[in-house]
Amino acid sequence: MWLALLAPPCCAACGERLRIDAALCAACLETLDPPPRLPAGTTAAFAFGGALVSLVHAAKYRGRGDAMRAAERLVRERLPPRAEIDCVVPVGLHRTRLAERGFDQAARLATAVGEALEAPVFVSALTRLRSTAQLAKLDAHARRAEGEGACVASPRLSGQRVLLVDDVHTTGATLRAAASAVAAVGGHTRAHVLAATVAG
Ligand SMILES: [Zn+2]
Repeated sequence: MWLALLAPPCCAACGERLRIDAALCAACLETLDPPPRLPAGTTAAFAFGGALVSLVHAAKYRGRGDAMRAAERLVRERLPPRAEIDCVVPVGLHRTRLAERGFDQAARLATAVGEALEAPVFVSALTRLRSTAQLAKLDAHARRAEGEGACVASPRLSGQRVLLVDDVHTTGATLRAAASAVAAVGGHTRAHVLAATVAG
């Protein structure tokens, strides 16, 4: 524990020793590009590429705390205007995957975004659905949401302007499913992601 605290901080992407307090070393920061054009209402901190590829992978699949902390700092770039947001909600992991992985990357990023915007974060307001066993317990309304992409939103999001947060925007299907679930309870959404893939 003490040794970990005393060790000099290292770049979470390449392991290079950091001389200043930063998310990544200068060389890795140089590999980050601004995001590509995204659908209206969607913002991204960066394009998915360069050092972000190994960073996201290390945080997501290897559970590396240093990579997650770096991602939490980077996701605060290019945030949408605070005045247009009532609350921040992560695009949730399905419970089975959460159990396998032990932590929820989107929830960690949403918490970082909420802190930066000084907006409330509702970590469990969106539920991803997959299993038919879970579906059987839902009412007709929720089952329709499953048809639109396996997501159910809490009624507390009714009338709220919700900022959805996820790690990587690829096709946008996950965010669309989350947005339609929020719309189904009368909320409005925009989205912010750490990184967006460049088409083609
Ligand atoms: Zn580096």
